[in-house]
Amino acid sequence: MAADPAEFLRIEGITRRFGSVHAVDAVSLDVARGDTLCLLGPSGCGKSTLLRTIAGLELPDAGRILIDGEDVTAMPPHERPVNMMFQSYALFPHMTVARNIAFGLERQRLPRATIRERVDEMLALASLQAFADRKPHQLSGGQRQRVALARALARHPRVLLLDEPLGALDRQLRERTRIELSAILDRVGVTCVIVTHDQEEALTLADTIAVMRAGRVAQVGTPDAIYEMPVDRETAELFGSLNLFTASLHGEQLHCPALDLGMEAPTGHQGDVCLAIRPERLAVLREGETRDHEATAIVERCDFLGASRLLLLRLGDQSGIRVLTDPRNRVAPGAEIRIGFDHDAIRLLPA
Ligand code: ATP
Repeated sequence: MAADPAEFLRIEGITRRFGSVHAVDAVSLDVARGDTLCLLGPSGCGKSTLLRTIAGLELPDAGRILIDGEDVTAMPPHERPVNMMFQSYALFPHMTVARNIAFGLERQRLPRATIRERVDEMLALASLQAFADRKPHQLSGGQRQRVALARALARHPRVLLLDEPLGALDRQLRERTRIELSAILDRVGVTCVIVTHDQEEALTLADTIAVMRAGRVAQVGTPDAIYEMPVDRETAELFGSLNLFTASLHGEQLHCPALDLGMEAPTGHQGDVCLAIRPERLAVLREGETRDHEATAIVERCDFLGASRLLLLRLGDQSGIRVLTDPRNRVAPGAEIRIGFDHDAIRLLPA
C-alpha cells in the first residue's frame, strides 16, 4: 500500500549497536517524497551507520525502514529501491564514463536499447556528454563526482543515499559542485538522504536537517528553523558563529550582566540560562540610531571579509562580542562604539 507522501521514507526506532557502542540509538525520522534530508553532526555521531542501515548494508538491532509503505528492513541491499553514492565515488578505473554508468543496468539485465537510452539520459542530466568515452583518471574531481552521481541515479532509485557527496573536493570546487548537485537533485525529484558534517552543505541542500549527536537526533527541522531556533548550544554552534553570554531568569525578569541587560523574559526557562545572539543580528549604531537594547564597546579588531566586516569588540565587563557588519563600517581598533540589537535577536538556550 502506498504511504502518505510525507512519510515516503520512514526510519522507525532504528538502533544499531557495535558491542557497547550505541552507534544509532532509537532514531525515528520521516522524509517526504522528493525531499532531501541531511544528517548532520560531528564525527562518530552515527550518521554513516544510519545511512548504511537504510541501504541495507547494516542490519539494525531494533526498528524498521519503510519505503513508500513497504517494510524493507529484511531486504538485501540490491533488492531495495535504493542506491548509494560513496564518498570515494568507487568508480571503475578501467571503464569509460559511459560503461561506469551502464554497469548497474547491465547487472540488472535490462535490454541493450534501454541501457543506451538510460546512459544518454544520465550523461545529459550530469552534463557529461563530452566525457562519455573518457576514463575516470582523465576527469577532474568535480566531473568524477558527477559520474558517481549519474551512476547512482541510473537505476532510477526511489531513494538516493549520498555519503559526504562533496567530501573529496577542495573548497572552491565544493561550492560550484554543490550548486550543480542541488540542481540535479531538484530536476530528478528523487527522495534523498545526505550525510555531511559541513553545515553550509546541509543548509543549502536540505529540505530537512536532522542534527545527530551520540547516536541520537538532537533536533529535526528546516534549515531556517534550526538556524533560528536551535534547541541547545551545541546545535547553535554547528551553524556559524555565535555570541554566548551567561544570563539568569528570576520570575519574569532576564538579567545578562555582560550586556547590562534587564528585561522582561520570554517564558519557558528558569534559573541560569545561556543567552545567544548571532553576530549578524547586532548593529553598529550611528548617531541618533536606536535599538531595543544598546551597549557601548571598545573595538579590538576589525577584519575585512569582502562581503562583510567582522568586528571583535570588548564590552564593559571585558567579555568579547562579535559583530558582522557592512564592509563599509570601518572602525579603528581602540575606538569606542555603540552597538544595538532588538528583542527578537535574543535566543535563550539551556545553560
Ligand atoms: P564520520 O563523520 O566520522 O564518518 P559518523 O557520524 O558517520 O562519523 P559512524 O561511522 O556511523 O559515525 O559511527 C558511529 C559509531 O559507531 C562510532 O563510535 C564508530 O566508532 C562506531 N562504529 C561504526 N562502525 C563500526 C563497526 N563496524 N564496528 C564497530 N564500531 C563501529
